[in-house]
Parts: sequence; structure tokens; C-alpha cells
Amino acid sequence: MLDEITESLERDVESELGVEVLLRAAGSRLEFLVPDEEEGKYWQKKIKQRFFERTGSSLVATAASPVKVKGLLTEFQEVLRRANRELEKERNLVFPVAGEALPFEERCSICKKRVAEGWYQTPEKQLEPACRVCYTKREKGRELRCRMVKKLGEEVVDREAFVRLEPPDSLNELPPENLAHKWVAVVYGDGNNFGGVLQQKIDKLASALQWTQRIKRVTWKAAAQALREAMNSEEASRELKRLPFQMLLLGGEDISLFAWGPVGLHFARYFVELTDREFAPAQDVKGRISFSLGVLVTDEKAPVFRTLNFTEEELLKWAKRAARERGYERGGTIAFFLAPSADQIPGDLDDFLRRAFLKPGKVMNLCLTLRPLSAEELGFLIDKARELRSYSGSLLRLATAFVKGSPKVATLLYLYQKERKREKGLFDELEKREKVPPTLRELMFPTFFSPERKVFGVDEQKEGFYHFSVLVDLAELLKILG
Ligand SMILES: [Zn+2]
Repeated sequence: MLDEITESLERDVESELGVEVLLRAAGSRLEFLVPDEEEGKYWQKKIKQRFFERTGSSLVATAASPVKVKGLLTEFQEVLRRANRELEKERNLVFPVAGEALPFEERCSICKKRVAEGWYQTPEKQLEPACRVCYTKREKGRELRCRMVKKLGEEVVDREAFVRLEPPDSLNELPPENLAHKWVAVVYGDGNNFGGVLQQKIDKLASALQWTQRIKRVTWKAAAQALREAMNSEEASRELKRLPFQMLLLGGEDISLFAWGPVGLHFARYFVELTDREFAPAQDVKGRISFSLGVLVTDEKAPVFRTLNFTEEELLKWAKRAARERGYERGGTIAFFLAPSADQIPGDLDDFLRRAFLKPGKVMNLCLTLRPLSAEELGFLIDKARELRSYSGSLLRLATAFVKGSPKVATLLYLYQKERKREKGLFDELEKREKVPPTLRELMFPTFFSPERKVFGVDEQKEGFYHFSVLVDLAELLKILG
């Protein structure tokens, strides 16, 4: 919705001042040039008003910083920095509007905080009290999301897939019916190293303008293509009745959506693959820009506030940290996480990872996950998991042995099962070395050693080296893909 308001303001700027003055319009950020200070004040007021009128709640900071025309041409970066400083100052002065709820007033049934001011219709066609903010988010939000999907459809070659299916009304309509597990994926993504690139390489007004438009086009196109691929991957095996995703935010460097679990995973793989390809650096160029994605897969009943928060604050940050640790040299990263229900979403991710996935031992130290993954690695593991579908029971048992027992015992179990040759197919398929990505060239089963790989993509382990196992990652992907 913020995106849409930004767009409406963008149109106003274009018609009142001209398209040439726009520097940046993405997400809920708008930067443009105006002819004088007076005009600057007018726009500051106008922007604030627009946001407040439409949402009834959002806080918006605006700043106008005077500049001589010559400055735009000779010290563009400094001009931008100055404007940003002004904006930061303003940001610290914005306070939330305190709504007052009297003890005898009905509260909103959605946020349970603000006073109800009217009624809304639930997906079950019941009338429930709602506050204006929640009502706006719900009703307006739905309409806008539909429009966004339509626009995404226009980006891809076969629009058919996007147009044919109705958008979902609620989270439990994302997965197809009659599935044992109705997995919902929450995806949050963000660009890496964009600031660095902007500061070093973009020193002209013209290149800033061009860059803004390019990044917008690239993310839209990549998101549309990735969603199309993700849908095609699942549609063949399941009949979709509704669109298996709902876009929440897509602008500039930020992206977020809800999707049916498998579609969310495929999306992450294709989106990072496409943006990695688009931003592959020229020869001899160090450091690159890329995207990191956090993907939480959980059941459709998990509260949205909790899942969004965990995905953005924990998973996305984990993925970004891993990209940074590699010096932004290897492209995007994806951190996926399976929490079968809301109460299994960890309060502290770092602590959870250590307890669940690290097994220090006398013979060897073992890490039970390769996450965060590159697009290529995720693609490889997804394909492998799908090949192993008919052996899922046995694979889950092998993985459980590693999670619950000691690495030594689990390894023995693996070798024992393999030698019994009762499920030859499982081990043949598992250990097949086709299409192994270069970053996994040391991959072996059940465990392998990789001197370059860091534990959780971020930790240099000081005490002894770590071996890795990929069985748990495969088992979790199998659970999600079903
Ligand atoms: Zn409310």
C-alpha cells in the first residue's frame, strides 16, 4: 500500500514538475528535485498529508534541502548525502499518533488494540468490528495486491498462468486443497551492497536516474519470471485452484511475499539465480551487488505478525550476513527455515542453530546444515529432494539419526543401511554426482569436509574443523515439497 501511495505521488510529481526531476521512487521512498525552497515546503506537506489520509496511521518523514544547480552537476554525491542527513534529522522527530481507546469502546477484532470504527466482512462472510487502519489495510490492500499481480503477469511471456487463477482471499487458500500439510512460506528479500555501489560508482545525476529505473525494472522482471517458474514447477504435479502467492512488497531493493511453501522455495531459487545473472560483475571487478532472501516455511495458522517479524529480523539478516562474510563476491544467499507450527519458531535463531545443527565430537565436529545456500545450491538440493520423493520415509530416518544421536552412530547406521542393499535406489540416487555445483565439489555422503565452507555461512570455527552433512537439509526440503 505504501508502495501505491508512493506511486501516486510519483505521478503527481511527473505531471506537476516533469518526469525528469525524479531521482528515485521505490518502496516508500521518493526523491525528486523541485525548483525552489517554497515548492519544497509545499511538497513536504503534500506527501505527509497523502500518507496520513490514505492509511490513517503511517508515519512519514520528509525533508527538503536547498542546492545550487551547479552543485547538482559537480558534487552530486555530496548533495545526496546532505539531503539524507536532513531526512535522518526529520525521522527522529516523527512521533506516532496516539489513538485513544475508552474502556467502554469495542476494540478492533483484527489488531485488538485500536477502537473499532466500523465493520468488515471476513472470508467466512461474517461481519466483525474493525478499526479504520485495519479496514484500510484489508480492503484496500486486497485490491492493490490484485493489481500488482496483474502487473506482474504483464511482465512474463505466458500471462495465462497469472490471469487464469483467482488471487487467494486468505493465507489458507495459498496451498491447494486436500494436502496433509498446508505449508505457507513467508519470503523477505533485500539487496546486498547497493549502498557501496551507489557511493563508489554513481557520481552523476544522469547515472543515478538511470540506475533507479534499471533496478526497478530488474526486480520486477526477475520477480515475475521467478514466480512463473515457481508455479510451473508445482502446477504439473498439483492442480492449483488459486494463485499460490500473494505479493506484499516489490520495489527497488525490497521484496516480500506470502506463498504456498514449495512455491516460496522455488521462487527464492529463481529470483536469486536471475538477479545473480543480471548483476554478474565485469571481469576484474571486485565486490558485487546481489540479493539475499529469508524464507520461513510454517503452517497457515501461524500469526502473520510473528512470521513476518522472524523472517525479516532473523532469517533475512542471517542470509545477508553470509553474503557479507564472503566479501560480496559470490552472489546472493538464501536462508530457509522450516517451523512446522508457530510455537516452533525460535525466539533466538543463533542459539537454536547451535543447539539443533552443531555436533562437536571427539572424532569430528559436525554441522548438520549448509544454509544459507546460493541459488545454485538450493536448486541442486531441491532437484535431489524431488528425485528422492519415493524414499522419503527412509531418508527422514537417516536424517533423524544425525539430529538425535551422535555422528558416529548415525554414520554407522547410514553405512549399514547402504550395505544391506534393501533400498539400493535411495543410495544410488542420493550419491549420484550429476550436476553438483562447484561450491559443493567436496560433497560426499553421509558427511564431508570442506575447508572453505564456514559454519552457518558466517562462523570461522576456531576449535577444530567442521565436517558437514546435507541429509537434514534434504529431509526438510522433502517435507516442504511433499
Ligand atoms: Zn485494528
